[in-house]
Amino acid sequence: MTAQIKELELVSVTKRYGATVAVDAISHKFRPGGYACLLGPSGCGKSSTLRMIAGHEIVSDGTILLGGADISELPPAKRGTAMMFQNYALFPHLSVAENVAFSLKMRGVDKRERLAKAGEMLELVDLSVLSDRLPDQLSGGQQQRVALARALITRPQVLLLDEPLSALDPFLRIRMRGELRKLQRELGISFIHVTHGQDEALALADEIVVMNDAVIEQAGTAREVFNAPTTAFVAQFIGGHNVIALPDGHFAIRSDAIGIAAPDAGAMQGNILGVEYQGAHVSVSAMIAGDQEVSALVPEGDFFDNPLNPGDQVGLIWDPANLHKLTA
Ligand code: ADP
Repeated sequence: MTAQIKELELVSVTKRYGATVAVDAISHKFRPGGYACLLGPSGCGKSSTLRMIAGHEIVSDGTILLGGADISELPPAKRGTAMMFQNYALFPHLSVAENVAFSLKMRGVDKRERLAKAGEMLELVDLSVLSDRLPDQLSGGQQQRVALARALITRPQVLLLDEPLSALDPFLRIRMRGELRKLQRELGISFIHVTHGQDEALALADEIVVMNDAVIEQAGTAREVFNAPTTAFVAQFIGGHNVIALPDGHFAIRSDAIGIAAPDAGAMQGNILGVEYQGAHVSVSAMIAGDQEVSALVPEGDFFDNPLNPGDQVGLIWDPANLHKLTA
């Protein structure tokens, strides 16, 4: 299945609902066979983008290409994409195996063949033993795997996942995200996963596409986006950063790249506002230049060698190489 995975490309894709522009002329090439996360706050246009790729929503303007072919006008089942929904949408009266086989039934595949294929898919997601159960006899995590198997049975080039982990409790969410990543590697197809969770995107994605207000703010590998955000929005949304105004512009710097020193040392003087113990690190917030709050993430051992309290004067130090100039 890994051979010749096709590239998915969005060319100036727009979605309007009446007067609302939900997606505003976005262009992007997704890496074939990669795990991409569309990340951004609620309402920024992630789901609309995903639904347009799936064919569940009409493109208002622009083109969606898969392997160079225009799929914008094709029905969902003809696109080479498959969607896994947030609520899994399993048929309650059909067994697990019949749920998984359903789309093949719609395509006229005979019963023996479709149940054999469903069996393969259930093996893939480790659910073979439960193939005769009904959906309400399964846990949330198991239902999710059925939904995955059901989406994968059509052998899509691109699997689209809309907030696939949001219905799970935090413990299961972390386990399932590991399973999604493993499955994507095994299949070698492209996954596009919508999430508003920074941690989820950083943990899963080869590529993060950060959206805000109907446009793509920044796209890159998880490390690129985290280490070198290009806009203040990305720096703040991805977390773990400070945005500092200096005489020559606005810069982002990671909180763990700021050190604390004696008051007369360092790039800037600051006044400690708060100290928060976070286990491996202590988060120290300080006011600099009278009106800017910055936070430094100090390894807990270092902090307790030289503890600080609110009101203390300190110097803040950083390597200028760790400052990333922001474009907006
Ligand atoms: P996200 O997935 O990032 O939360 P959406 O794509 O769901 O964002 O929504 C983007 C914008 O489009 C929002 O302002 C939302 O209210 C609007 N929107 C989404 N779906 C519809 C719809 N079916 N009709 C009208 N407006 C919609």
